[in-house]
Amino acid sequence: MNPDMLVVARESRGLTQGQLAAASGVPQGTISKAENGLITMAEEKAQALADQLGYTRDVLDWDAQVYGFGSSSFYHRKQQALPQSRLKQIQATFNLARLRTNLLTKGLDIESSYSFEPFDPDDYESPEHIARLVRAMWHVPMGPIRDIARLIENAGGVVIRSDFDTHRISAISQWVPGERPIFVCNSAMSADRERFSLAHEAAHILMHDRPRETQEAEADAFAAEFLMPAAEIRPQLANGIDLGRAAQLKTYWRVSMSAIIHRARDLDCITASRAKSLYIQMSQHGWLKKEPVEIDRDQTRFLTGVVNAQLHQNGYTVQELSKLTGILPDEFTRLYLPEQQTRLSLVTKE
Ligand SMILES: [Zn+2]
Repeated sequence: MNPDMLVVARESRGLTQGQLAAASGVPQGTISKAENGLITMAEEKAQALADQLGYTRDVLDWDAQVYGFGSSSFYHRKQQALPQSRLKQIQATFNLARLRTNLLTKGLDIESSYSFEPFDPDDYESPEHIARLVRAMWHVPMGPIRDIARLIENAGGVVIRSDFDTHRISAISQWVPGERPIFVCNSAMSADRERFSLAHEAAHILMHDRPRETQEAEADAFAAEFLMPAAEIRPQLANGIDLGRAAQLKTYWRVSMSAIIHRARDLDCITASRAKSLYIQMSQHGWLKKEPVEIDRDQTRFLTGVVNAQLHQNGYTVQELSKLTGILPDEFTRLYLPEQQTRLSLVTKE
């Protein structure tokens, strides 16, 4: 057994050692010693733990490296304010999602049109400058980015949605050398917020190989310029804005009304007091929590494509793929074939 995998499997389900012990009947002391690599657990006990956690037995044996969050969350205040148990669960979920992505893509020849490359922020004029370079490097046409999830996946990244069970974290990203950059988004986020978070995380992947004190402001500056290039949006903001105009620009640029107001202020198209007054109006309408106009969600295609290739070209069954990725078929379908799940549940309802 790999002690790290036992920890990850347990934490991914949000269980303490005591809770897992109570639920599985395996003594807490045994779990604790196994997690510290002090004992080899009897096979039936290991099986009982795997069953309780809803993973296949061999997940606990995976010879895998478990990683921490790295620089993307080093200076993230809201994340630091979260309870340790929740952070551990999110970290464990992230690691498993990463490992399953590696297992699913192994042996597949997948070409990406573009790539992620490191940019040292000290070598460039500003994060905005890097945003413009990346737009050029990835051949992004002028105007709004129609689908940033797709753009990231075309550059070799993987975008995954997961329920973080908290609103404090929007997304987390990680780029383990030799692997694909992974972006996990909180599925509770609205589509506009998810897009900004993806741009913000892409900035961390591109610029923050090493944590920097200024990284959160830099990632926001990158995201704003990447999604709303100053040269293009400035003329639209030049005469000032009201909430109606912000809503209009939201559907065009596919970012939140708040982000539009923020951008107008940053580009000096409105005064600080005007921005404040707009935010107060937003708040009075309850729009800081839920905006009145919604945009449709970006499409995450990479993993669906991989799973479909394994099913339809390589002849795997859902059972085989769930076994390969260490989860039960129900969870596999929910995570990787959500459309099929909807179809199945529709059939059952008839
Ligand atoms: Zn950040």
